[in-house]
Amino acid sequence: MADLDAGVAPGTQDPGALAARRDRAVHAAVAQGVVGGEDRPLAALLDVAAVREAAAALQSAFAGVAAPGQEILHTFAVKAGALVPVLRLLDDCGIGAEAASPGELALARAAGVPAARTVLDSPAKTEGELREALARGIALNADNPQELARLDGLVDGVPGGHGPGLGIRINPQLGGGAIDAMSTATATSKFGVALRDEGAREWVLRAYRERPWLNRLHCHVGSQGMPTATMAAGVRETYELAEEINAAAGRRQVTTLDIGGGLPVNFTSDATTPSYAEYARLLAETVPGLFDGRYGLVTEFGRSLLAKAGTVLARVEYTKSAGGRRIAVTHAGAQIAVRTVFAPEAWPLRVAAYDAEGRPKAAPDVTQDVAGPCCFAGDLVARGRDLPELAAGDLAALLDTGAYYFSNPFSYNSLPRPGVHGFTTDGDGAVRFHTVREPQSLAGIVAEAGGRHRDTLL
Ligand SMILES: *Cc1c(COP(=O)(O)O)cnc(C)c1O
Repeated sequence: MADLDAGVAPGTQDPGALAARRDRAVHAAVAQGVVGGEDRPLAALLDVAAVREAAAALQSAFAGVAAPGQEILHTFAVKAGALVPVLRLLDDCGIGAEAASPGELALARAAGVPAARTVLDSPAKTEGELREALARGIALNADNPQELARLDGLVDGVPGGHGPGLGIRINPQLGGGAIDAMSTATATSKFGVALRDEGAREWVLRAYRERPWLNRLHCHVGSQGMPTATMAAGVRETYELAEEINAAAGRRQVTTLDIGGGLPVNFTSDATTPSYAEYARLLAETVPGLFDGRYGLVTEFGRSLLAKAGTVLARVEYTKSAGGRRIAVTHAGAQIAVRTVFAPEAWPLRVAAYDAEGRPKAAPDVTQDVAGPCCFAGDLVARGRDLPELAAGDLAALLDTGAYYFSNPFSYNSLPRPGVHGFTTDGDGAVRFHTVREPQSLAGIVAEAGGRHRDTLL
């Protein structure tokens, strides 16, 4: 089985190999006690090879269309996988960090991501955060005129000039995608300077004219559900505005374009579609000037770097039926799949059935709901799904959950955050697990719930 990792050219993301590694890992997770048993009803697995392949695919896709020597910094949107070892792994792959809060900045720093490969974006940066970013040489993008005015008062005090890249986030107002909550380029989005509002373009041009230290321009048109053509159109608008700023300045004032992230993930099969290569080619067709070498580029992909690498494994505790509806009650619900539970149409997940030994379940399909442990009726991760009939003791696997699922838990019902386990395959085919995050203990839950302050309200 040593060939599972072999034979895959760097940068390729082979769906068959991904599925084969997942099956082996599930089996090994049961055998090695990572999941199952009384105290491990839920665990998250992360395929390290899949993360490395995704990072390599991103890098080779952009390198394939870029000018020789063009500077490209790929960063990972920390919110998609806010786990220090994951950030460290990506840093090892040459991927920096895009942080949007003091916590995310702290995680990137703890992971050892250099300031020069960190970008700070957030619509609500405090003065302290701005100061810290400037002092450490972290690039940032101002979201709005008030933030820019605040920066005016801070950049002068920075020793050695501003140092890092400083930009403004624009909203090209191109309209939304399939998921409202993920659409950041609507006419009324809360992010960035709304470029088509009256006077906004002139305001941006003036802002750059008056601030020679502004040297970047940023957009992020949306995440899951956004057509790639809309994403590329947003990048074109950003590029065209940079050209206008530079023409007005009579120099190359904007040196770097930060084109955001948002590549959608296919949640319906193991195939990686669209691929980074397809997106890079689309960008090259839509905005040829992006890759002629005059601009440095920054990207901020999150979901597409991690989603396919993750699997949540949940033990089926009981099965039952109610009013003719068949329900498998598992340990994975809203605490680990918040979006899928609360917005099921927008965030459907594949569920795979494994038996108690972690082998793919061979039973015939029946229509069933897959429920979680939370105490509200809507706590379902799949409804009316045709799956091998699940039985108590089996494992339900939530696929493609490497991004925004186990790294973004919800503490409803005081359910513990599950352990996260990276896995690799040894030369001899053995699966090895590496603790990314310990499962949360009951003592940990009590501590977070004010355990130390028990009598404070008496
Ligand atoms: C969330 C976010 C990203 C990453 O989006 P994905 O859909 O995970 O790729 C990138 N940039 C900004 C500004 C974001 O808010």
